Amino acid sequence: MQFNSRYPSLDAKLYHEQMPAPLKGAKAGHFNEALADQLQWSDEEKAQWVEICSGQKTFPEFHPLAMVYAGHQFGQWAGQLGDGRGLLIAQVLDRQGQTIDLHLKGAGSTPYSRMGDGRAVLRSVIREYLAGHALNSLGVPSSNSVGFTSSTQGVQRETLELGAMMLRTSDCHIRLGHFEWINQYQPDLLAEFTQKCLAWHYPECLDSEQPILAFATKVIQNTAVMIAKWQLVGFAHGVMNTDNLNITGSTLDFGPYGFMERFRPNWINNHSDYNARYTYQNQPSIAHWNLWNWLNNLIPLAPLENKEQFKQDLVQCLEHFEPTFLEHYTHGLCQKLGLPTFHKDSFDCGMAFLNILQSEQLDYTDSFIRLQNKQYEEIKDDCLDRRQFESFLTQYESIREKQNIAELDTEMKQANPVYTLRNHMAQKAIELAERNDFSEVNRLFKLLSQPFTKQTDLEQAEDLAPLPSDFPEVMVSCSS
Ligand code: AMP
Ligand code: MG
Repeated sequence: MQFNSRYPSLDAKLYHEQMPAPLKGAKAGHFNEALADQLQWSDEEKAQWVEICSGQKTFPEFHPLAMVYAGHQFGQWAGQLGDGRGLLIAQVLDRQGQTIDLHLKGAGSTPYSRMGDGRAVLRSVIREYLAGHALNSLGVPSSNSVGFTSSTQGVQRETLELGAMMLRTSDCHIRLGHFEWINQYQPDLLAEFTQKCLAWHYPECLDSEQPILAFATKVIQNTAVMIAKWQLVGFAHGVMNTDNLNITGSTLDFGPYGFMERFRPNWINNHSDYNARYTYQNQPSIAHWNLWNWLNNLIPLAPLENKEQFKQDLVQCLEHFEPTFLEHYTHGLCQKLGLPTFHKDSFDCGMAFLNILQSEQLDYTDSFIRLQNKQYEEIKDDCLDRRQFESFLTQYESIREKQNIAELDTEMKQANPVYTLRNHMAQKAIELAERNDFSEVNRLFKLLSQPFTKQTDLEQAEDLAPLPSDFPEVMVSCSS
């Protein structure tokens, strides 16, 4: 590995150095060798992946540390938070020279653990491991993981579960909540901290006339792009608190997330979200709210002579959110449908298709694949209101008829995954892994590596459809 240790150059009040506390009986779960290659791991490091991903081996080049941050959880100020069960154990350069954080999750309690035990259970580690991999393979910016380990150590949740650790990778662990913590508890650190955020993550903004405003705009745009991509693949994060969004707009901190099956925009995968704040359809407006809240934390950086103007400029920055989101979402939706983005009726036609999926409770992923395969009769046969589908199809075909169909069909294939990580798929992999059988994790990992490619040898019938509607849904526990 090539180290590029930069977080420790921040003021020491922003983190706490400590070593991981390994679990008893650590054992291999899964190793993402392609990612290890991308991170320039040597053969020796690869051979030691279990020790590295279980906290038994750390590196002399980097002293592991827990970051402190704060946040708004479910819309309420939550005060100080921080890495309560994870440690940054290295910052390394990948093959493209980008700095990537290695963060060991489940590594024991820290000064920021509050009431928690500092551990992660195998169930939630597998869910995060597979989701990060799935999103990366789908081209959605996200954390990923080099590997995870299980153990023989019991960890108490609703029931006694197995403790586990995963080595998460991300281009950034600096959360919107970092800025909230600094403003609340150490405001003197804000200027230097922000300067480093620019230097590390948005160096191009340093040359701008107004670097802070340029930085704010980039963070807003990147977040808007990420959310558009979530909506397009049907991903619901579930816990969009300000401590779970970072400043580069890559997905972080998977809790009770879900990939949508039957299309229900008000679907809430997180059963602890009693007010339905973090439903799929709310994600754009919640991101907007989080960013608005974050921008307030930049106000102290205003030049003394024109504070009022600076505040107005920050509001202007936020106005980039909606058009950026809409541009990416519209383009992506048109691609999924095989419609030209420039046609005035394409977006409405896309909405008509989504309305059908919603009223007929059709599967999101599979319906786009059927449209792509021109299985129009099959879709219609699944509709109670067949006329609604016929009228969609008339408009759809009339838009397409004067276009370059072959080109649009190629785009469709690149935009519509055959496979998504359905809750019941993850659940089966977890249940087997809890009995020390990682074969299903292995299979899903391979399947989700190429979500756009039909893999007849690897797929199972259950991968392609939601559970029957009279089947009880897999309840995703909020505890992790
Ligand atoms: P989350 O909702 O998972 O993003 O977690 C919110 C905060 O609680 C973060 O500061 C976590 O580090 C902390 N946390 C969550 N679970 C635990 C745990 N088992 N032990 C210690 N801290 C935890
Ligand atoms: Mg979190």
